[in-house]
Amino acid sequence: MAKTTQRIPKKLKKPHVVGPIIVFLLLAGITTGIMFALFSMLGLYTTTSKITEEYERLSYMARLYEQGGGQSNAESVYKLLDEAERDYIILDKDGKVLHQTGENTSGNDGNMAPLFSGNGEVMLYEDTVSDYVHVTLDGEVEIPYFRLFRMVLRNHYDTEIVGEDISISVSNESTDENGKAIEEVRDGENGMEVYFYSSGEDGELANVRFSDMDSFSFFLPVWMEIPVGEQFLRAKVYVIINLGDFAMLSVTVVALATLLVIIFIVLIVYLIVGVTRRKRILKLYITDQSTESYNWQGYLLKGEQLLRKGSSARKSFAAVNLVFINYRNYCMCHSVEEGDAVTDKIMEVLRSYMGKREILAHSAPADYSMVLTGEDPDHMKMRLTSIILQLEKIDPDHVFHFQAGVDMIPVRKNKNDKPVKRKEFNLEEAYNNACTARDTMSDNDGSGVAIFDEKLVEDRIWADKVQEKQQQALFNEEFEVYYQPKYDPVTNKLKGAEALIRWQSPDYGFVSPGRIIPIFEKNGFITEIDHYMITHVARDQKRWLERGFTCVPVSVNVSRAHFIESDLAEQIRDMVDEVGTPHELVEIELTESAFFDDKNAIIKTINKLKSYGFTVSMDDFGSGYSSLNSLKDMPLDVLKLDAEFFRGEDAGERGEIVVKEAIRLAKSLNMRTVAEGVEVKEQVDFLAEQGCDMIQGYYFAKPMPKLDYEERMKKNQEEQS
Ligand code: C2E
Ligand code: CA
Ligand code: CA
Repeated sequence: MAKTTQRIPKKLKKPHVVGPIIVFLLLAGITTGIMFALFSMLGLYTTTSKITEEYERLSYMARLYEQGGGQSNAESVYKLLDEAERDYIILDKDGKVLHQTGENTSGNDGNMAPLFSGNGEVMLYEDTVSDYVHVTLDGEVEIPYFRLFRMVLRNHYDTEIVGEDISISVSNESTDENGKAIEEVRDGENGMEVYFYSSGEDGELANVRFSDMDSFSFFLPVWMEIPVGEQFLRAKVYVIINLGDFAMLSVTVVALATLLVIIFIVLIVYLIVGVTRRKRILKLYITDQSTESYNWQGYLLKGEQLLRKGSSARKSFAAVNLVFINYRNYCMCHSVEEGDAVTDKIMEVLRSYMGKREILAHSAPADYSMVLTGEDPDHMKMRLTSIILQLEKIDPDHVFHFQAGVDMIPVRKNKNDKPVKRKEFNLEEAYNNACTARDTMSDNDGSGVAIFDEKLVEDRIWADKVQEKQQQALFNEEFEVYYQPKYDPVTNKLKGAEALIRWQSPDYGFVSPGRIIPIFEKNGFITEIDHYMITHVARDQKRWLERGFTCVPVSVNVSRAHFIESDLAEQIRDMVDEVGTPHELVEIELTESAFFDDKNAIIKTINKLKSYGFTVSMDDFGSGYSSLNSLKDMPLDVLKLDAEFFRGEDAGERGEIVVKEAIRLAKSLNMRTVAEGVEVKEQVDFLAEQGCDMIQGYYFAKPMPKLDYEERMKKNQEEQS
């Protein structure tokens, strides 16, 4: 089966997820890039701006070293340098350590790239051991080594604050016997000095500096290197990062992070709004507003979803098209609102019949589309028949008609005869088949349910071919009138004839009416055929009269579709008058089912036809519908007993009783009788005995071309004279 067509418009189908995610990733990338750029710029700024003071100190040390004679006067120079109280090293030009005071954490293994290189004059190296002290905003000091520290406070310090408000977090061991952490706070050379205990070696001091105790700062230890002649002096210095720098950094980080979060939230909101909107639109798209059930789109979408499910693989289904035949008429005679109310009732009934895995949709005003479960066509037919029976009784004041077409959807099987999932399924195709089955249902199918099969496809193709050719065939007079004589069973005399159509098609050869009349009835061309037949019969009769034949009435079939026209009697009269044929030579045959439509209109037409001098007969009496009841109201001249009476099961004793009674009934209603389809002598004798007026059947003659019928007339005339 072919792939399904697209059911949901593209816009509804694709949730817009990929686009926004790409945009988000792009924005996130750009923001992160900007963040890095800002950070490195800030880093450079801080290092260069914060390092100046320390650089001056180191330059001073370098000068001392140079002036003191450097290596040549080593011991006294180192003493001088040691007074600066710094960790430092002297390196030769190959990076070899010539002297070291304090701990060398400059990572001097020759592989380390400088953090910063100031025009070859100053180099900054990362301190590989982070023994600096962090001071966080609430003033806690985190001490990496438990030693007694000396804190040097400079600038705007406040003794009180230093001593009391700043809590210095040290472990129990680092407090004195009174539980005090801070031992002493005093003015130092470079600022406030705070001594406190730590669990290091007794009395050892560590040097920690705060640039401003009011604000927040932290110390970043780095190693700074300055060339001294052929050698290098590298010393540990501290880059102080204060609140301002930190605030700038944090503001930037927070701003960028906020930006990212906002973008993210916007994206999420956009996606959620998009998804809910899509859901809402999709719901509208598949919902029938009048019944709140699925509409046509919903039927296809949900139906296909159901059929494609893995759990549906083992089940057989059926696509069903149910049509409320007289919906339009009902709306026209009442109102659309009342039509809607009936629709609601119908939906209610249908819903009560729906099983778990079944789909019901109101796909068009008069159309109900379903996907039902079930594998047996007969069972499906029974189920739908009972639904239709229930629906036909839905309104006690009206008789409604429903028809259903079904296309069975069997289980799909693989080579090993195992059920497989219907990965692709075109429900529209199946539904179309169901509609075709319903469309081509014969009018006298009492059940109102038709199951699709391949023969229907052939029928459909044939119907299309016929429809394509019909107009031209009429224009070219390809339709031929055959005459089937009617004889008196007692005297064996020709009493009449029936005109029957034949199609001599240049493409399809000789075509019998059974293959074209139902198609013409469906596509409306039957009215033109009826005109054609009446006109041709009238012309033939006229010519025969002119040639001196003793003409008998010829009956013409008038389709029930034609009978709805209120001026049908006038049309027939005018057609016959145009040719100039006496009205008594033309008889009009109505099929029995015609009497079901609008009784009053039909009675009117019959009366008019009779008043114009035409004979009117009821065709196929006894077939399909039972119309005994309508007989009493119809002022008909002739009753044609259906051929079925003389064929098959009906032909027995019981059949004879019915025929006998029918003839008696007709006589009491002042009607003549014609028995159709009589093929054997016994039947003729029986009918003669019962007082049947005429026999039209193969026993006397088959329908024959015009010339053969002329022969029959001649013969009849000769016998009479
Ligand atoms: P119908 O009006 O009941 O016509 C009688 C049919 O029974 C004719 O079939 C005829 O050939 C057949 N028949 C007559 N006697 C016997 C018999 O002894 N044995 C058997 N087996 N059949 C017999 P036909 O000509 O094939 O027509 C079929 C139907 O097509 C007609 O049934 C009529 O309903 C329709 N039809 C034919 N011509 C026209 C037409 O010009 N206009 C309309 N509206 N319908 C037509
Ligand atoms: Ca007929
Ligand atoms: Ca008939």
